[in-house]
Amino acid sequence: MNPVLAPASSASLIRREVAGLPRYDPGADPDEVAALSGSRRVIKLSNNESPFAISPAVAEAVRLGLAGGVSRYPDPTGKRLAEAIGKSLDVPAERVVLGNGSENILELLCRAVLDPGDLVVTQAPGFSLHEIFPRVMGARVEKVPVTAEFGFDAAAWRDALAAGPKLVFLANPCNPTGAMLGAGQLEQVVAGTPESALLVLDEAYGEFARPNPDYPDGLEALRGQDRPWIVLRTFSKAYGLAAFRVGYGIASDAALIQALDRVRTPYNVNQPAQDAAVAALGDHEHLANTVRRTGLEIARVTDRLRGAGLRVVPSSTNFLFIDTGCPSDRVARELHRAGIVVKAWREPGYENYIRASLSTPEENDVFVRCLTEICAKDKP
Ligand SMILES: *Cc1c(COP(=O)(O)O)cnc(C)c1O
Repeated sequence: MNPVLAPASSASLIRREVAGLPRYDPGADPDEVAALSGSRRVIKLSNNESPFAISPAVAEAVRLGLAGGVSRYPDPTGKRLAEAIGKSLDVPAERVVLGNGSENILELLCRAVLDPGDLVVTQAPGFSLHEIFPRVMGARVEKVPVTAEFGFDAAAWRDALAAGPKLVFLANPCNPTGAMLGAGQLEQVVAGTPESALLVLDEAYGEFARPNPDYPDGLEALRGQDRPWIVLRTFSKAYGLAAFRVGYGIASDAALIQALDRVRTPYNVNQPAQDAAVAALGDHEHLANTVRRTGLEIARVTDRLRGAGLRVVPSSTNFLFIDTGCPSDRVARELHRAGIVVKAWREPGYENYIRASLSTPEENDVFVRCLTEICAKDKP
């Protein structure tokens, strides 16, 4: 601190809603885990990213884009990408919104829709930004619990939706549990959501669930609904482009997209990201391979962990929610010492759980071995 100047405090300037907010927890810093473990290469399983190399088509598109120069601002409307998305899903491009990650769209929706005191309904355990962004706007957030078996609690949803939310955030499949809602359950949420409310279906992991015939495609379920809705998807997970920060939404009507356009920064998706996403969207084989390889590892690792006596929630995603049987921050710390980064869950009632995204078979084997050793040691 500068000894001459009194320490300036901006604390009194900060809005009450912001001062009281929980911070988004990105998990342990891989560099710190590397230092702690002395491993040259950490195994990062904390952010649900793809462990696979990007599509060669993406690499080429980005290379060409950079060769063309980066001194100009990106296309503020992202029309090439919005049109490609619209064409692939059979929706007009004016009903497509792009974001700096789909997180960005979550935030824009809150900014455009929420007044202080409005009610937002979402899930618990859940994705923290479904709570943080509404609270920034001064909204109240009601979190609907899951059943003891991590399933859909129909009665709890019915009650929460009957309280008259203005906005509903539903992730399907759900983060952190990895569980998915079936068609009938999704239908119950749609039917229970007031027609005056905006239903936001967050399908960040939808690509992983789609091979399951019981997984309801949210866009198909909502397409014909005469009510406000938006389906959010991302290039960060199955497409493996998390560093580019690009996600998109398909909305019930162009008016919602126009409102989001008013509250976003004009150049929110950078040009290399737009180029990469267009190419990724065209490489069906790369996506299919990622989904297939991920599904095999999810099944294999789930079996092995259950074989070792651990409770693992059935996952329709690229990550597992695992009951470690003891406080998970301790387990996470031991894994970090072994050079493996996972996320210790902190929501009340789930403090014994870690969330771990899967990686390559080799890295997953290291994870399974370390985790089962740590948990066996903790058993009486
Ligand atoms: C990862 C994730 C997102 C968004 O990721 P972006 O990288 O911002 O597109 C959105 N919702 C859920 C539930 C997620 O897990």
